[in-house]
Amino acid sequence: MDKINVEHMLAIEEPFMKVPLEQLKREVRQSQKLAEREMQQAHLALAGLAKKQNSMDSADYTEALNGLISRLVALKQKLEEAKHKEAQLIQRSKQRATDLNELNDFTSTTQPEFQRWSRTRLERVLIDYMLRSGNVNTAKLLMEKGNLEHFADSSLFALVMSTERELREDHSCHGALSWCADNRSALRKIQSSLEFDLRLQEFIEMIRAKQNPEAIAYAKKHLTSWSDTQLPRIQRAMTLLAFPPTTTCPPYRHMFDVTRWSDLAHEFRQVIFQLFNLPSQPLLYLLLQTGLSALKTPACKSEDPGEHNRNCPVCQTDTLGKLAQSLPLSHHSNSNLVCRITGEKMNEDNPPMRLPNGYVYSLNSLTEMSRKLGGKVKCPRSGETYYLADAKKLFIS
Ligand SMILES: [Zn+2]
Repeated sequence: MDKINVEHMLAIEEPFMKVPLEQLKREVRQSQKLAEREMQQAHLALAGLAKKQNSMDSADYTEALNGLISRLVALKQKLEEAKHKEAQLIQRSKQRATDLNELNDFTSTTQPEFQRWSRTRLERVLIDYMLRSGNVNTAKLLMEKGNLEHFADSSLFALVMSTERELREDHSCHGALSWCADNRSALRKIQSSLEFDLRLQEFIEMIRAKQNPEAIAYAKKHLTSWSDTQLPRIQRAMTLLAFPPTTTCPPYRHMFDVTRWSDLAHEFRQVIFQLFNLPSQPLLYLLLQTGLSALKTPACKSEDPGEHNRNCPVCQTDTLGKLAQSLPLSHHSNSNLVCRITGEKMNEDNPPMRLPNGYVYSLNSLTEMSRKLGGKVKCPRSGETYYLADAKKLFIS
């Protein structure tokens, strides 16, 4: 029972490893592209200068060379910064791999080392939850307290939050579009239409601002290149030019709807999570659901709150029960009798007691009640009152 299933634990931890590795891949690719582009331009400029060497004024020639040198120095500095960032991500990946690798050394869940590991995991799962929900300051405090900065994906979630805010509150696609430009090939691989959706929104805003000629030029530049996959939507967008923002015609009214900004913010989060293999739900929910699914019984679903067990987290319909709503019922090979009053298990030490009206409660709950009511017990279901001595002990067979 206290054996550790390393394989199952690693399966749920995939994003923990994947995020820094994906970030590293992107950093390397971006600095590679930058170096290639800058070096190519430097070669071309140098070749051009060599050709014009004899015909140029020496002061101009020196100035051109100096310009080229400062450009290369700037490139060197940028590459050094990128190298530093890459080293940080490599270090972060190593630290996470070491942490997960420790699982292979544990032999039992009762080991103090495993308890310490689990405590750290709980803290990083809570940090993940807080960063996702925007409670950044509390997450920071927890990170500092546990020295867990390397286990948190703060920069990724900060980017998600700021881009979502920009879309939802400022109605601006600027940050989201520049992120799309940096990740174009990855977005193409997952066949995402996020960039098109953002471009379409900018086009709609131009029509809303009565800038139709600019909107047509924008569509030619940014929408028509998507005609292979988005032709019907491009056609509808062009028809929108004929409608005012106050239109009541359903498809066009919907295109002018400002709630589309919230949809874009939601889509941005989904896409960036998909690229980094992050689940849409916080890991905290997934772990809690694993436990809740083992506890869910038909009684938890009862409309009558009296049927609920006060010690059962699934029965707490306003808190953990919400997370368990979509979960299937658990399979129980053995049934347990649970006291309706205390939620305690009924067994030989706390036997079930039958009142004269037929209802059954645990001995502990009736004894406690009789102490308060001067030797009497009151049935919570029927309201009838009896002496404790009237209750008959039942035997579980
Ligand atoms: Zn329950």
